[in-house]
Amino acid sequence: MHCEILGVKFDNVTMDEALARALSFLDGASPGGAVRARLVMTPNAEIVMRCRRDAEAHGAVCAADLALPDGVGVVIASRILGRPLRERMAGIDFAEALLPALAARGHRLFLLGGAPGVAEEAARRAAARHAGLAVCGTRDGYFTRDGDAVAAVRAAGADVVFVCLGAPKQELWMRAHAAATGARLLVGLGGTLDVWAGRVRRAPALWTRLGLEWLYRLLCQPRRLWRMLKLPKFLWAAWRARGEEKRVKNKQ
Ligand code: UDP
Repeated sequence: MHCEILGVKFDNVTMDEALARALSFLDGASPGGAVRARLVMTPNAEIVMRCRRDAEAHGAVCAADLALPDGVGVVIASRILGRPLRERMAGIDFAEALLPALAARGHRLFLLGGAPGVAEEAARRAAARHAGLAVCGTRDGYFTRDGDAVAAVRAAGADVVFVCLGAPKQELWMRAHAAATGARLLVGLGGTLDVWAGRVRRAPALWTRLGLEWLYRLLCQPRRLWRMLKLPKFLWAAWRARGEEKRVKNKQ
């Protein structure tokens, strides 16, 4: 089941359904037996706004095999538009929930992104949390040639890549290079490795439950203000789209 929000299609799934879909991507072969790289993306309000003015970013986000609503803004917009998403699903929560299954099934995970040292530290801590997790490689996200990162993933023999390059760089990279990496599942996860490596603190659970994770992030990283100013614009755009949809319906 899909839910379209300002031109971006989201999968209206629960966390359990999202995990099951991701794992089925790892099992599945395409017709003809070839294995196709599948993409999971986690767009938030800021990316949806970017997609409205950037056709390349929009094309990349539309290439997702599974698109999960990261951020309370997307969920509020879905309610404004009268087609509510069932769950807000932060990319980092989805990734964390996926780790035990990757460990149990012995899939090989590559962590790509963040400043030098971040992916290594994130890998070390993730492996300590999940016994048996096979992190087959890491690489920072400040490479100058895309081909170097692709070659690193390929050489590591990764099944799964967590791509943490920020938006829309990670979506563009995934769309352009997924097939060449040899991996079967690539997941775009923004600043997840910074949190796993202990460089950035996540909002306490209560803030998240109240839908205020964005405010916590703003207080910890005030430089995000200009990015967050897009949220009211996004909600206003959803409101206008709802009016437009109603007008079209009434005419029919
Ligand atoms: N990043 C990267 N390469 C780049 C630009 C950014 O690896 O060329 C990383 C950056 O170090 C950070 C992440 O991408 O770890 C983006 O984090 P941010 O919190 O902005 O992402 P969000 O979760 O908000 O999408």
